[in-house]
Amino acid sequence: MNTRLSPLHVAVIGEELAVAWNDGTESFFPLEELRRHCPCAVCQGEADVLGEVERPTRQFSAESFNLRQLMTVGGYALQPQWADGHATGIYSFSYLRGLSSHKPSAA
Ligand SMILES: [Zn+2]
Repeated sequence: MNTRLSPLHVAVIGEELAVAWNDGTESFFPLEELRRHCPCAVCQGEADVLGEVERPTRQFSAESFNLRQLMTVGGYALQPQWADGHATGIYSFSYLRGLSSHKPSAA
């Protein structure tokens, strides 16, 4: 049926965020990857009238990939607080799920 996707369990294991979904699958997000995909306007830039997005260049430090706290937002998203103070990224469950399906290409 049309059960809304949501995490049953979220935990930080080592350098990864592990999410157990209510459809029985699990996703693992390296914290660095998670931070690099921060969906907030500061990180991703905002589209101009032509839909062109100018990506701001961000400086990351080790603290940027250090997860300090993870909050649930309104029952539809996770909002991580990073050790460098950044906490404006709201990762909806479907966004997270999308991140997990795109496998990092092998270097
Ligand atoms: Zn951000």
